[in-house]
Amino acid sequence: MSALSKSKKTFPQIPDPAPLSGPVAISSNFCGGNIVHTATIVESPTKCRVELNVDQDPYTELEDTIHSQWFYFKGSLMDPILGGPNKGEEVTVDYVITNANRVAFPSAWPGSSVCVSTNGKKSWERKTKTDYDKAEGTLSWQHVHRQYEEGTYFSFFEPYTLDRHIDLVDRCRATRGVNVSVIGRSLENRDIELITVGTGPLKCWINHRQHPGETQAEFFAEGLLTRLCGLDDFGAVDGLAHKAREAFTFYIVPNINPDGSANGYLRTNAGGANLNREWATTGDYEAPTLERSPEVYYVLKKMDEVGVDAFADIHGDEEMPFNFIAGAEGCTNWGPRLQGLQGAFLGAYCRTNPDMQKEVSYDPEDPNGANLAVCSNQIATRFNCLSITLEMPYKDCYTCPDPERGFTGGRCARLGMNIVDAFMHVKDWLRSEEPFWENLGEDDQYIRPKEEWEGKATMMGQE
Ligand SMILES: [Zn+2]
Repeated sequence: MSALSKSKKTFPQIPDPAPLSGPVAISSNFCGGNIVHTATIVESPTKCRVELNVDQDPYTELEDTIHSQWFYFKGSLMDPILGGPNKGEEVTVDYVITNANRVAFPSAWPGSSVCVSTNGKKSWERKTKTDYDKAEGTLSWQHVHRQYEEGTYFSFFEPYTLDRHIDLVDRCRATRGVNVSVIGRSLENRDIELITVGTGPLKCWINHRQHPGETQAEFFAEGLLTRLCGLDDFGAVDGLAHKAREAFTFYIVPNINPDGSANGYLRTNAGGANLNREWATTGDYEAPTLERSPEVYYVLKKMDEVGVDAFADIHGDEEMPFNFIAGAEGCTNWGPRLQGLQGAFLGAYCRTNPDMQKEVSYDPEDPNGANLAVCSNQIATRFNCLSITLEMPYKDCYTCPDPERGFTGGRCARLGMNIVDAFMHVKDWLRSEEPFWENLGEDDQYIRPKEEWEGKATMMGQE
């Protein structure tokens, strides 16, 4: 029985790939790649329209849905014998994703710009003229392919490959004072690594990339680990990181979903589980289990063994052009203490790096309305601690805009470095029994965020 037969819904089918022909070859059969090339309409050997479909994650049983939106592929000029250009000719290609209205979050396309690299992924820019046609359901942009380019790639956000993840973990392993251990295996038998650094009494956990298409999260992990472990200076760290390692022991999971990362999925592991809904049983759907979500099972087991005094779960948001945190407002233990911790944490974060802001987030959940299958809610409740979900944009960051580059992997990494400052600001209060919230400064006060922001309707084409 296929997974799909469990659902009563019918889901859109992805067409078969087109045969190899025309001026450009489309390839996504590499780590993290995702696209199905469905047709090339040739106007001339130097002009064509390439039609694409975003491929689907495996069926997600709990949500009875199929997620998709992440894409990442390569376009290469073909040999003249197969329809490619003659030596020295440029080829103008209109790229069109024809199933853009059937992805997980079609409302996220307005205001999005595709990432492009023409130097073999060394640097990325934005296709500022990326168009979403709501009526046609298409996302399109144009690219002029020049010969002798090093390799031309397109993606929803800068990719973070599994090879880069393995290199990152190996660099940590080779650094004195840093411990790397494998705490479990994914469904496809990839390692789940836990990186431990610091000797302090407070246990701070930071998990990344439950949703594998949110590659922002692993750039964030790289920044965080670079700072805390001194990866860019032979193990030497700055003064604040030094103090942080005395106050805390950090438990960092840089990639909890290696299978989804390798397979080019948006939101699921190899079995279709959305890991950020696997932290508790929902109705008769049992989670986490070794059969469905071993990635969550092993990490939660280790958290129970070690304890948690502060926690962050790192994500990207398809729609909102902001960095923000979603907090524990809906948890049963929400009150002046957790509210004070969250306000002070976010205040310090914004002061350190204004790419972070306080005013815009998801509308907070109703009192006692938290879904405990969501990781940060589960951790806030289970360990009665500061616990947040952090989201970074695919789009530009409206608080500090840069339309040509959009938000970048490098800026994700800097936010990863700066979360250390925010945790250090609240360290004395994390397990304090004093009413510290009564004496917080104005800039540390909790602000209840809103999902609406000025200019939202314009950006989303809803004027
Ligand atoms: Zn996410």
